[in-house]
Amino acid sequence: MLSSGSRGNCIYVESDAVKIIIDSGLSVKELGRRLESIDRTPGELDAVFLTHEHSDHIGGVGPLVRKYSIPLYATNGTFQAGKKLGIVPVFNPIRSGDIVHLENLEIEPYTTSHDAQESIAYVIRCHNRKLGHATDMGIVTHQACEALKNSHVLLLESNHDVEMLDFGPYSWALKKRIKSDLGHLSNEACGELLSAVKHEHLQRVILMHLSQTNNHPEIAHVTALQALGSHTPILSLANQDQPTELIEV
Ligand SMILES: [Zn+2]
Ligand SMILES: [Zn+2]
Repeated sequence: MLSSGSRGNCIYVESDAVKIIIDSGLSVKELGRRLESIDRTPGELDAVFLTHEHSDHIGGVGPLVRKYSIPLYATNGTFQAGKKLGIVPVFNPIRSGDIVHLENLEIEPYTTSHDAQESIAYVIRCHNRKLGHATDMGIVTHQACEALKNSHVLLLESNHDVEMLDFGPYSWALKKRIKSDLGHLSNEACGELLSAVKHEHLQRVILMHLSQTNNHPEIAHVTALQALGSHTPILSLANQDQPTELIEV
């Protein structure tokens, strides 16, 4: 996780044959700095995948793909709504359910319930290992739950504590948006999702997209722990300001 939160999201994934990122709300310079911390460079990236057009996800993507001529993969909805992207060197349209094969990585987008055009999240497979990703969604649909089953590593949104959001400083309209079916997953909703998809081979869970205003890392952590019950995968939290170390799936 190079960055996670409302000020910029970026997930780096590699196999022995290919290197990709999902989203980048970071400037090219900051992305370069964070990749350097894991001994990688932006010039090595083989592809950039997008989840949706909100600026915390695409803010840094246009300059990045232009500077390094990196192919961009996104839904037509995201690409058309993502005016900020500008002209990109290579655009590959993708669709929910259609698997993209890049060398030995299988990247499968699935539809998310979010206030964006044709938004998606991803499941990635390689050598019989599975990474499940679920951020920026107001509700967990049956389709999302099915997509995430049997993941060895899960990256799950745990955006807000409902009470902190209710009593926090956001406007009524914004609170309503966040809590809607097209908003973001609360700690409780994340816990319910975890309960539904946990299994004995789940090895690691990383909580993502935590609100700095409407959440406390401890509350998110405890809620997820409770949902996991007797299952004991490694549980950690992604950070807005610094990258996590590379994790093997
Ligand atoms: Zn969003
Ligand atoms: Zn977001």
